[in-house]
Amino acid sequence: MAVALPSFLTAIMIMSRLMAFIGITRNNDMSSKLQSLVIAPKLSYDPSAIESASQDFGHIVKAVPQAVLLPSSPWDIASLVNFSYSNSVPFIIAARGNSHSVNGQAMAKNGVVIDMTSMKNGNGTGIRIASDGSYADVGGQQFWIDVLNATLGLGLTPVSWTDYLYLTVGGTLSNAGISGQTFQYGPQISNVYEIDVITGTADFVTCSPNNNSDLFYAALGGLGQFGIITRARIPLEPAPKRVKWVRMLYTDFSDFTRDQELLISKNGRNDNKALNYLEGSLLLDQGSLDNWRSSFFQPQDQPKIISLITKFRIVYCLEIVKHYDGQTKTTVDKDLQQLLKGLSYLPGFMFEKDAKYEEFLNRVHSEELKLKAKGLWDVPHPWLNLFIPKSKISDFNDGVFKSIVLQRNITTGPVLVYPMNRKKWDDRMSAVIPDEEIFYTVGLLQSSGFDDWRTFEDQNKEILQFCEKAGIKVKQYLPHYTTKEGWVNHFGSKWSTFQKRKLQFDPKLLLSPGQRIFNNNE
Ligand code: FAD
Repeated sequence: MAVALPSFLTAIMIMSRLMAFIGITRNNDMSSKLQSLVIAPKLSYDPSAIESASQDFGHIVKAVPQAVLLPSSPWDIASLVNFSYSNSVPFIIAARGNSHSVNGQAMAKNGVVIDMTSMKNGNGTGIRIASDGSYADVGGQQFWIDVLNATLGLGLTPVSWTDYLYLTVGGTLSNAGISGQTFQYGPQISNVYEIDVITGTADFVTCSPNNNSDLFYAALGGLGQFGIITRARIPLEPAPKRVKWVRMLYTDFSDFTRDQELLISKNGRNDNKALNYLEGSLLLDQGSLDNWRSSFFQPQDQPKIISLITKFRIVYCLEIVKHYDGQTKTTVDKDLQQLLKGLSYLPGFMFEKDAKYEEFLNRVHSEELKLKAKGLWDVPHPWLNLFIPKSKISDFNDGVFKSIVLQRNITTGPVLVYPMNRKKWDDRMSAVIPDEEIFYTVGLLQSSGFDDWRTFEDQNKEILQFCEKAGIKVKQYLPHYTTKEGWVNHFGSKWSTFQKRKLQFDPKLLLSPGQRIFNNNE
């Protein structure tokens, strides 16, 4: 008799927990077996390596692994996965990119964490650019800033980015990779030709839309559940030289969103007249004008902006960019004016900057350095990132920004709000987005002290409860749930495919346990 998938999976999950339990009681046994492997010299038990693998950018969750693998090639990774997969007592394994998750997603309690960045110095794929310049083959361990620097050297660039570039290619492709380019190019996962993946069965598979497509679609946005991405082939285009970078302020939310939606309606990939980047954010009384979203406003403009915020308590800031180079230098201002014609921003509250392309893309890093110097970077980050259907964004503004956020008055750090187009995403991939054609991303990217992050987590819970009560069907980005029910709801109609793929590519539930999808007790 065929076993029904859910009950089979439940049985595997129970087995895996049992194995994890046995594993804990046999730690010494596991360590001695690991030491017999060829990769033993690349396993670190050094307290400082263990300590850093137990933490992440969130500074909220802590999970201590047994060991940290410092691979120098994908074969080291395959060897570790193969050992666990074939072992009578398998152990859990987490690829760790730059550990910029905020809820322990790259951790493996009592298991092995793979420090992907150690491959930067090894024999894995570094960054190789095709001779015709049409793509780059990039190791999953590479930071996006390295990809930018390498491609710019040849006058080329990827087209879809994240706001911050000290994230790994494998880490962002496991989520989606979004920023102000997403409305036009789609997320980073929509801009990948091919990937190499080491699955949970230790198979080394090259996949693309035409080759092993199930694994390709599973791994992109797959939260590390199906395999470890060791190479991605990223399309490239000629790089612009400079950007016109504009911020406009609004006090009326519907004016702000109407203008955002109008601007993203021009979104053809090759449309020279379209914008190249669009985001939006909240300026709040309690937040500094210059948090890590970059010191954009000139000192002479700040007093009038601050008095606007003091008067209205929330000001909405629309941010756009238009690229240009030697050829378009003389027309860029006219094109920009044409695009901004008829917008409803507050007269006198448009601010402009001219910057190098790479300075704009790497804008968060300079703020990171400033915050680091003040000891304000490596602090708890109780973040909440949501996707909200366009039809409910105004209800969200009333119930969350104007009520919860203003009443609690604790939010520090950037609060992002900007729309994107569903048609630029590929629904065959694992990433989950709302059903509507236009949806917004909202990111409450809060920083807190080490003793008050729970207050922010309470606010996050209140926001989610409000959405549920108000019938706002949000989807979390960089999702974090602690129950199976939460995950089933999150994936909705994609859940059965997600489960089936897990069974196919990681049947022993070894990979990325810190996501707590199949390993809720880890
Ligand atoms: P990690 O946190 O190390 O890992 C994330 C998950 O992916 C884990 O489950 C891990 O096991 C898995 N994983 C890691 N590497 C691989 C691999 N090679 N193969 C398979 N699975 C792997 N995101 C955006 O989309 N847009 C933004 O603009 C943006 N800005 C950010 C700014 C800051 C300051 C920070 C801290 C985060 C930002 N993020 C943004 C979120 C970021 O994309 C995710 O947290 C991402 O997971 C971080 O990448 P990482 O390399 O540090 O991954």
